[in-house]
Amino acid sequence: MIALVHHPDYVAPAPARSSYPWNKNGLIRDLLRASDAALEWFEPDAMPVAWLEAAHDADYVAEVLEARVPAIKERRIGFPVTPLVARRAAVVPGGTWLAAQLALDRGFAANTAGGSHHALADTGAGFCVFNDLAVTAIRLVEERIVERVLVVDCDVHQGDGTAALTAGRPEIATYSIHAEKNFPVRKARSTLDVPLADGVGDDAYLETLRATLTPLLDEFRPGLVLYQAGVDPFAGDRLGRLSLTLDGLARREALIAGLMIERGIALASTVGGGYGLDALEVAQRHVRSILELGGVFEKKRLHPPAHFLPWARSVAGLDDAH
Ligand SMILES: [Zn+2]
Repeated sequence: MIALVHHPDYVAPAPARSSYPWNKNGLIRDLLRASDAALEWFEPDAMPVAWLEAAHDADYVAEVLEARVPAIKERRIGFPVTPLVARRAAVVPGGTWLAAQLALDRGFAANTAGGSHHALADTGAGFCVFNDLAVTAIRLVEERIVERVLVVDCDVHQGDGTAALTAGRPEIATYSIHAEKNFPVRKARSTLDVPLADGVGDDAYLETLRATLTPLLDEFRPGLVLYQAGVDPFAGDRLGRLSLTLDGLARREALIAGLMIERGIALASTVGGGYGLDALEVAQRHVRSILELGGVFEKKRLHPPAHFLPWARSVAGLDDAH
């Protein structure tokens, strides 16, 4: 069973003056429910304010939660922060947190929202309000649930907010593979940035991903990877500059899942970016990504490797005390 995290509040009604695809998370949920895959659903709590404040400035957290974000910040975010948008912003990091817990227990879990990698300490940006990846990574290491967390960001845009919010924390590393000429104009410095030229296609992308991510995994040895599985490197994406095919995206997820399984690293995925005029097509790309990631882990769960991954042990029922 693939563990999925969803909350009804993910689907906030579109505020006026907003071009953001607000129904994406609802469509993702509906498509997953309609799929043949064996799925188990979990509902998160909102992220406690103290943990939002561990990544973001307390003033900004209050502005969001009280739905009084200044207009200049709302322009950077790309939509007005209404009370319902604020509620969604607090519950999405709760979902990424829950997906991380589930992944540590089962190997893999997916949040059906999140990946808000542009949100910074004192403001949101680029459709991101709170940075669920940074908040979750910080909480995981501060609560000593995991010694080291790596954020792997394959969205076509750089994970600038995540890099900035986790900088100076040796227990958290960030990896971002992105189109160099894309938003944000001013890039932050991740632990490892892999900027790509416009138009890079499947084979070059996958070779570069493998060649750059593998050594980082082996050097940093994270207990958990938080994955930003944006599908905007797709050739037909409205805001991407790369040229991946649907098959290339599926191969990317198989590669990511395989690298984690080989090393016994738990993987929690988030949705990330994906833009197009047909919201259903975009949602389908995200769903394919989630099912591909989960499918690779499910196959391994039935055939646990000989060295018994920490999570394979509990799954196989060999560790009843778990
Ligand atoms: Zn993006």
